[in-house]
Amino acid sequence: MVYLLDEAMHLDVTKPFALRKVKFSKQTHSHFRTLGRNLLLRLLFALLLLAATLAAKGPVYVVLWFDTEDYIEPAADDAALRIAMELEKLGVRATFKVVGEKARVLEARDRRDVIRALSRHDIGYHSNFHSIQPTPALYLRDMGWLDGAAEFERRERPGVADIQRIFGVTPSCYGQPGSSWAPQTYRALLRMGIPVYLDEAEQVGLDDQPFWFGGMLNVFHMGRNLIRPSLDDESRLAETFAKFDRAADELEARGGGVISTYFHPTEFVTSAFWDLNFAKGANPERSQWKNPPRRSAEESERCYRILVRYVEHAKARASVHFVTARQLPLLYESAAVRVTDRAQIARHMAERQTFLVTDAGVFSAADMLQALLGMDPVTVEGPAAPGETTLHETEIPRAAFEHAKTDAAGFIRSSHRLPADVWVGSRKLALADFAATLAADDGTSPAVAVRKGNPEMQKYIATDATRTFDWPIHPEGFSAPQLLDMARLQAWTLKPARLK
Ligand SMILES: [Zn+2]
Repeated sequence: MVYLLDEAMHLDVTKPFALRKVKFSKQTHSHFRTLGRNLLLRLLFALLLLAATLAAKGPVYVVLWFDTEDYIEPAADDAALRIAMELEKLGVRATFKVVGEKARVLEARDRRDVIRALSRHDIGYHSNFHSIQPTPALYLRDMGWLDGAAEFERRERPGVADIQRIFGVTPSCYGQPGSSWAPQTYRALLRMGIPVYLDEAEQVGLDDQPFWFGGMLNVFHMGRNLIRPSLDDESRLAETFAKFDRAADELEARGGGVISTYFHPTEFVTSAFWDLNFAKGANPERSQWKNPPRRSAEESERCYRILVRYVEHAKARASVHFVTARQLPLLYESAAVRVTDRAQIARHMAERQTFLVTDAGVFSAADMLQALLGMDPVTVEGPAAPGETTLHETEIPRAAFEHAKTDAAGFIRSSHRLPADVWVGSRKLALADFAATLAADDGTSPAVAVRKGNPEMQKYIATDATRTFDWPIHPEGFSAPQLLDMARLQAWTLKPARLK
């Protein structure tokens, strides 16, 4: 700033706003000899720069969400009500991801007051039964893409319907119970009209910011932009504020972004989770369920106070806006893109199959593959299986390759999914090999050189199949490498989400 101010003294006055085109001019310098005018100019530029700096600061969107899931302890109903009211007083709307059984229990307990208060915020979905066995990752682990999605939909659609009936809206978002994440859920959620994935775990992530994956806008694996005040220790709040400020500074400087913060209403009134009834795969009958241990009234007041102080701290910052999951898709560029520079995409895809960020748009590997096939990119699914290359020649005759291209485009158009592999006569190329070969092809030479694929997008998928699925409710030692393998296939659809 000091440097710029000094430089401003020598600025060509005919271009006072063109700060990037600062010109040193001895002639103009001589026009401003008097001290008074000098000071005035300095002041003017200081104000201009301040205005420019403020204008350049990107917006910080805080997504505050509450997993509203405890259908055992009735005090958790009151906690949800109290939180909704406190936030309403602060002028902040949060997202309450409600479990189907919780919604039904609120109705059965005649808690119209809770349902009304939550409805004034945003309503998401947090599975039909949360921890009753089997949880999603457990039953989806050994299923495929299509049968798994159908099974998730069979189990979950009644819960979505109950949320719609009880709260009067289609849930804005979904997030899995615990770390019980699975890629097949994305296909089913889109079919149920749910466009946003809002949760926190580590199976897939991109730069600690929102991203597109499986056709949904994801706020997930937010790393340094996941900020959670401890409800147990108010003295650590200053530390959390500092962490929030660091994250907000960084997001402002990069043109804006999202901070994710979540709690569970039940945490405000209980000192252990309600669903420990289902720990390590246990599945007791309803009559055997034990209520979780309660916090004292003073402890609960401290929890509410911590939430309010955190929200007040965030709100005090000019760049901060609290947004709900329902608002998120409006803030981001749509996933649909038009390709204007085919050559740029071809160069990129020949080297590596992963997303590409350009001024013209943000492209997933799936978007680019469609463009290279001469299609207008639409949202598609990644392949349902790993695919295999059985063609071992180094070249493919032009006509045979053109047939293969037509066949691949036909499959994508009819199934809205990428093929696992592409047939070239009686042999085939795995999708990544096909994409690399297609991208490097000049389109005219009589033979097309076969290229090996480099599916770099897979690096955004976790590799530790035990740690990422660690959750006290999963059976002991639970591991789901199959789900991560499937996620690597869906990484064809992965790309950063870009703010409008
Ligand atoms: Zn939960």
